[in-house]
Amino acid sequence: MDLGIVNGRVYIDGELYEENIYIKDGIINTITKEFLPCKKEYDAKGNMVLPGFIDPHVHFHLTVGANTSKDDFHSGSIQGALGGVTTYIDFLDPIKYVGQFEEALRNRRELASGSVTDYGFHTTIANPADSAEDIIQAGLREGIPSVKLFTTYSNTDRRTYDDYIDSLLKVSKELKCRIVVHAENDLLVKSDSNILVKDHEKSRPVISERTEILKLAELARERDGLLYIVHVSAGSSVKLLSENYQRELTNKTIILESCPHYFLFNSDWYEKEEGYLYTMTPPLREEKERKLINKYMEEITVIGTDHCPFDTALKKAFRTSQIPMGVGGIRYSFVTMFSEFGPAIIPKFTEGPAKAYGMYPRKGTLIPGADGDVVIFDDSITVEIQDEDSIYHKRSVKGKIQGVFLRGNQIVDQGIFLGGHGGYISRKLGL
Ligand SMILES: [Zn+2]
Repeated sequence: MDLGIVNGRVYIDGELYEENIYIKDGIINTITKEFLPCKKEYDAKGNMVLPGFIDPHVHFHLTVGANTSKDDFHSGSIQGALGGVTTYIDFLDPIKYVGQFEEALRNRRELASGSVTDYGFHTTIANPADSAEDIIQAGLREGIPSVKLFTTYSNTDRRTYDDYIDSLLKVSKELKCRIVVHAENDLLVKSDSNILVKDHEKSRPVISERTEILKLAELARERDGLLYIVHVSAGSSVKLLSENYQRELTNKTIILESCPHYFLFNSDWYEKEEGYLYTMTPPLREEKERKLINKYMEEITVIGTDHCPFDTALKKAFRTSQIPMGVGGIRYSFVTMFSEFGPAIIPKFTEGPAKAYGMYPRKGTLIPGADGDVVIFDDSITVEIQDEDSIYHKRSVKGKIQGVFLRGNQIVDQGIFLGGHGGYISRKLGL
C-alpha cells in the first residue's frame, strides 16, 4: 500500500466508523480495522475522514464584458483544495452551434491545465440553432453529460427559450444527460442600467425565480426529463417544489442546488455601505426567505458555490449594471455549512453532486475502487475565519480541515497548500 490513513472516523453511507483506509496507485484499495504495512502513514487522530468534496458550480477565469473574475483555474483550485474540494465542474463558453463545441472545450481545457485538483465541464448553450440531440451528443462524446442554459439574459442573447428547453428535457433521460438551468423569469427581471445596489433584490424578485422553476418542473414532469436547477435562492421556491413535486425530488429527476450565501446572508446587506461586495445573481433574499431555505435544506441535494469573485475595486459601484456579479466561496463552503447543519450536510458535498453528474462511485464516496480523495476534518474545534478578501471574514465556524488528499497524494496540510496536479474527469450518468 502507498498510503494508510489510520485512526480516523471514516464516513461511509451516512455513518462514521473507526476504520483505516489504504490507498494504492491513487485508488482506495482496502478499508479495514487492521493496520497494514504501507509506505506512508497519516494519523487522522480521531478526526472525521470524509470523501473529497465536489463543487459542481464554479466559474474560474470567467470573463464578463470587460472584467475577468479574480481566480483562474490554478488559484481557484488552490482555494478549493484548502476548502476540501478535490473535484469541481466549471462551464464551457456558451455555444449556438455544435460546430463551436470542440473549440469551446479546447479553450477551457487549456486554461484548466494549471488546475491542482480534478475537474470537469458543463456544456453551456445560448439559444442554439442546432438540435437538442446534436448538442447533447457532442458533449457526451467528450464525457460531458450535462448541458447548462439560462432562462434569462435575453438582453445579451444568452436566453434559451421554452420550446428548446422542452426538446432538451424530452431526450435527456434516453441520452443520459442532465439539463442544468439558471432559472429566472426573463420578463420579471429588471435589466435597466440605473438599478442601485440597495434595490438589487427587488430587481430580481423571488417571484421571478418561483414562476420559472414551476414552469421548468412542470416541463420536466411532462417529459420525464432530467432537470437540475442551479443556485436556488429563495426558500419559497424550494417549498413550492417540496409540496408539489415530491416524487421528482425523491427519484432525483429534479435536483435542486443552492449556495452557502443564500443560507447565511440576507438582503439587508444591500442597504449597507459595502453592499456591493454581496452582489450576485440571483440576489440574497429577505430574512423570511433565508429562514425558509434553511428549513427546507433537506430538499436540496447539492451545495455548489457559484464561486466567481472579482477584485473589490471592480465591484465598488452604486449601480448593479456597473458591478460584475458573483462572490467567492469555495474555500469556506463546507466549513460554514457544516457549522449550520452538522453531518447532514456531508452528502450534499459528496455523493449528491457525484451522482447528479455521473462521477459516482469514482468520486463522492469512500469505498474500495474509488479515487483516494479524502478530507480530514476536525469537527471538535471552533475557529474564526481570517480572510479579509472573503464575505466570510470573521465568521466563527465549527470545525477545521486538517488535511486533504487527491488520489492518494496529500495536497493540503493544516491550511497550507502543498502542491498538486489535477486531471480532467470524463463523466457518464448512471441511471
Ligand atoms: Zn453560476
